[in-house]
This record gives sequence, structure tokens and C-alpha cells, in this order.
Amino acid sequence: MINATLKELSAALAAKSVSSAELAGQFLDRIAALNPTLNAFITVSPEKTLAEAAAADAARAAGQAGLLTGVPLAIKDIFCQQGWKTSCGSKMLDNFIAPYDAHVIERVRAAGLVTIGRTNMDEFAMGSANENSYYGPVKNPWDLAAIPGGSSGGSAAAVAARLAPAALGTDTGGSIRQPASHCGITGIKPTYGVVSRYGMVAFASSLDQGGPMAQTAEDCALLLNTIAGFDSRDSTSLERPTEDYTRELGNSLAGLKVGLPREYFAAGLSADVARVIDEAVAQLKKLGAEVVEVSLPNTELSIPAYYVIAPAEASSNLSRYDGVRYGHRAAEYKDLVDMYEKSRAEGFGAEVKRRILVGTYVLSHGYYDAYYLKAQKIRRLIADDFKKAFEQCDVILGPVAPTAAFNIGEKSNDPVEMYLSDIYTLSVNLAGLPGMSVPAGFAANGRPIGLQIIGNYFGEAKMLNVAHQFQQATDWHRKAPAL
Ligand code: GLN
Repeated sequence: MINATLKELSAALAAKSVSSAELAGQFLDRIAALNPTLNAFITVSPEKTLAEAAAADAARAAGQAGLLTGVPLAIKDIFCQQGWKTSCGSKMLDNFIAPYDAHVIERVRAAGLVTIGRTNMDEFAMGSANENSYYGPVKNPWDLAAIPGGSSGGSAAAVAARLAPAALGTDTGGSIRQPASHCGITGIKPTYGVVSRYGMVAFASSLDQGGPMAQTAEDCALLLNTIAGFDSRDSTSLERPTEDYTRELGNSLAGLKVGLPREYFAAGLSADVARVIDEAVAQLKKLGAEVVEVSLPNTELSIPAYYVIAPAEASSNLSRYDGVRYGHRAAEYKDLVDMYEKSRAEGFGAEVKRRILVGTYVLSHGYYDAYYLKAQKIRRLIADDFKKAFEQCDVILGPVAPTAAFNIGEKSNDPVEMYLSDIYTLSVNLAGLPGMSVPAGFAANGRPIGLQIIGNYFGEAKMLNVAHQFQQATDWHRKAPAL
């Protein structure tokens, strides 16, 4: 059953050909065997998982099972989950057991999904390679020398290696789409405001959005049905009618207009990725889509704008970690200020400190206008570019990242080089749009490559169907690494 999709698992559970406890056992065995190599999970608790599975089996026996009751789910270690360590990949929160559930956790628990474990991630979700975790790097299951992508690298590696059939991730500047691409799975970042951020450890609040990662677009749609929805505890959560994200699956793509941004196919794109995207576009044309060229002229500016705005918000959000109420506290200190300083110096890793420094700088008197305000203006221009592009097309297609996964250590000493690899994902967050990554092929060295689909605001259902139709015609999403 380890290769089954959520839909298949749901059917097997309904037919009683497998129990939730048996399923959880199979995945836990696989985690025990493979996690020492992959490092995809920070916390695994067979006892808690099996208790959840037993409860799901009991709910089913009592006739109270929903579509996903008893299905295992891996959870990025950024979502507060009552009774589970919620480290966010940081030494700062290594001792933090969440006392309450995030909104999305309440939702998946209510739906009866079973927590298979808590996945590794870049510290406070800052990174593109999952090398910034306090718990060590995650390995890419397709090639242990390669990064899995970040920051939801543990979630992506877990799904790719079949340690879990699906996972939750978060995407502030690409952290669902980019690891999904590098690990050959499907992942969606919803429109900003569709999924509540309540209980999700904050990185950059105006950009952060949780979302599903799974083998197929259909599974992502099912999970999005579970986690999306209004929550009054997040002031940016949107009050909209409930949507069924599977409702367009099955629609023909005939006449669908797909936009190819000129700027996404310029210098910097590797030959491998260019080939895979070309082939994917050809496939979608065969399915009836019409291709139009569009322009997103401010794409290049997404990197400086994001790397001003995200650190600015992070510097503010991370000021709460002072060693007083929770989190790491230095063992020895002279006075209160010394306690703050030492706790933060010891608790945060290098990349987090870099972001706090940059963020504090761009928000400081005398620099605010030159950097932060300017970045916000660019953000508006980027959103306007998309608005114009969507007058000509229904979805936008492009690469997720300029290259397939690079090697562990290859860019870790050069933050700017690392930031540049985010070029195709950041603008989607800056504009608040939905985007996803769909497995579309492999580089010559065997590492997976994803196709990015960008939808208009609240265009998730349409976007998911583009991915679904592509997956009906191809089998990239069914390929799994040999482990
Ligand atoms: N790579 C980007 C960063 O380091 C995005 C991370 C994310 O989406 N959480 O900030």
C-alpha cells in the first residue's frame, strides 16, 4: 500500500481491505528503516500515531468515517500540534511542546487523518535546500547527494520516499513548490488567505501560506478541501463560501489559454529544465490548450523585493523568542538583557540571524524608505504584471526552479546564490496568487523536475484540473525513487 494515493487509500479503508492501524504500521516501519538515511522526520511517535489510527478505526466501525479518515499524513514541524514537539527546525524551539492545535491541524484531526510524524524543515522555514535545519540536512530520496529543496524538504522527501502518502507544508517564497519539484511530487500553495495561519509558526506573515503535498493533484485537492476555510483567529483569513477543489477535475482543457512568460525562459534556465517544460507544454497543447506569450517584466525584481520584505517581517515575528515565556533560554547570564542576548545568540542558526539583521536594518529609521517602502512598491508592480497577464490567459506555466536539485553543500556558503534559485517562485507569494508544482520529467542526471502552474486569485480548482489532466496523460507523478 505504500505507493497508493490518498484516493486509493481512502477506497481501501472503506472496503476494509486494510485498517488504519495496519496502514500506520506499514509507514512507521518504512520510516524506521529509511529515516536514519533521509532525515525527513524530526519527530516520530509510534505510540501517538497508533493511538490516532486506533481512534480512526473505531470511528469507522461506528459508521462515522469520512473520506480521509484513517489516512496517514506527515506534518511539517511548523504547525502547532497539541502534545507534539513543534520545533520549526530550530534549536530555539527544540524544547517546545505545543499546547494547542493550529487551525489546519484541527481540520485534519476532525477529518480523522492520522499524524505519521513531524517533518524536518529549514529553521523557521528560511531556506531553499533544507540545509538550515538544526536537525541536519534532509537527503533527496532520488539521489542522496542532492538537496530535497526547502523549506518543506522533509515533507517532500517523505512523500517521494513513500514514508507518508501526503504531507502538509508551507510556502512563503516557494517552500511547497520548490521541494515538490526537486522530489518529484505534487504540491500546491493556495491563494493567500485561503488557509488559516493560526498556529502556524510565523515567518513572513504577509506571504506565509500552508498547503498540501502529495503524489497527485487530485490528492492535493482532497487535502485542500480539508484544510481551507475561514478562521476568525487569523485576521487575513478570507471569509468566502466553501469550495470543492475537486469540482473541475475531469473538465476538458480544450480552449484553455496557457500563458508562457517570456521572462521565465531567458538566460539562467538550465537546458534540462527548459526541455522538460517544453515537453510539458507540448503535452498540454495535445490536450487542447492554446499557448499565448505573456510578459512579467518585473520578475527579476522579485528577489530583492522578497529578500527585503520577508526578512523585515521575520525580524518582527522572531522578536518573540526572548527566552522568557517559552523556547531556549541560556543557562548562564548576568542580567535580563544578557539573558535575551545569549538566548537568541544560542537559539538561532546563522541564516535566521542573517535575516533578523537584514530585516532590522531595512526597517530602521533612515533606511525604511530606501528599502522597505521601495520593496512594497515593487511588490505592487509585480502583482500588476500578473493582473495584466491574466487578461490574456487562464493559467501561467513555467519552471519552478532554474535547475534540478543541486548538491548538498553546493550553495550553502553563498546566500545570494541560494536566493537567486528562488527566481520563479517568489513573485507568486508577493502577489498572493496560487501556484503549484507538478512532476514533469527528469534531468539528465536522474533528478526530478517540476512544472509550475500559476493560477489567478481563487483559481485553485482550475489550476488543479490542469495538473490533473496532465497527470491523466503522463506518469511522472507515479515514479518513485529506488530505495
Ligand atoms: N527560499 C525562500 C526563503 O528562503 C522561501 C522559503 C519559504 O517559502 N518558506 O525565504
